[in-house]
Amino acid sequence: MINLNPFQDSSIEFLNEVVSSKKKRKSETPPFYKDRIIALSQMMLPAYQAYDAAFLENTLHTVTPSITFTSDQKFDVLKLYNYNSKPFTKLKNKIISRPNNHEVHTCQYCTISSINTLDHIIPKENYPEFVVHPNNLFPTCSQCNSYKSTKWMKDGVFEFLNPYLHYLPTEQFLFVNINYINNTFDISFYLDNSNNLIPLYLFNVIKNHYRNLHLLERFKNASYKIISEFDNSIQGSLTTQSLDNALNSARASISFNQATFGFNQFENIIKLELCNGVAFRQYCQTQGY
Ligand SMILES: [Zn+2]
Repeated sequence: MINLNPFQDSSIEFLNEVVSSKKKRKSETPPFYKDRIIALSQMMLPAYQAYDAAFLENTLHTVTPSITFTSDQKFDVLKLYNYNSKPFTKLKNKIISRPNNHEVHTCQYCTISSINTLDHIIPKENYPEFVVHPNNLFPTCSQCNSYKSTKWMKDGVFEFLNPYLHYLPTEQFLFVNINYINNTFDISFYLDNSNNLIPLYLFNVIKNHYRNLHLLERFKNASYKIISEFDNSIQGSLTTQSLDNALNSARASISFNQATFGFNQFENIIKLELCNGVAFRQYCQTQGY
């Protein structure tokens, strides 16, 4: 998981751009959606300023619902969001852009699946006014989005990491145990901060995030493919070098990857454990490498 840069331009201009993109339909009878949403978007401006201020001060937990919409108004406001429309495609492309023309196409909530939606960090069901606030939208996979649902805060603690605002720790907190038993890899991921290098508040948010998104289980399920690819690559290099040398080369490539993605990316963690632990060597023995 890496921090992504939030949208830097004006949130109110983005709201206006989304409103402008809505067209009057000939099939409609007055009052037109376009006219209704222009009026509603004007009501939303103070809420956008409040969100901007809280975002800047990293105090999103203080944001409260500020507008009471009727159910018809709420329906109109929620219709502003359309992942496949131009303003949102442009927004997503800005957020996933990294230096050197790199783009992040993997969901950074889970680091497993491809991005195919935008999550509403503060849920749109309870806070419809932020349905198209650009700093309230984060590119994710649909699985994370559906696990997240309408959760965001509980007892004053965030239920999820916010990759715009939570500075992700450089210290390792995700670990894995791998055993090779009965010709099968037994894998279990776990979180640990027993050396207290990560502030307690942040580690609690990390624990909430991993629990709510079922990440430890999802990492385990995604690991078998990674082990199989790792095995193929090691086997391929054994034609020209020893197992020890092949594992050393793999370690070097993992270190290179860690420089970009940090020490908590599950794929690197599992590969490093294959290099350093006994399980993969036991497997190699049974395979006769
Ligand atoms: Zn995801």
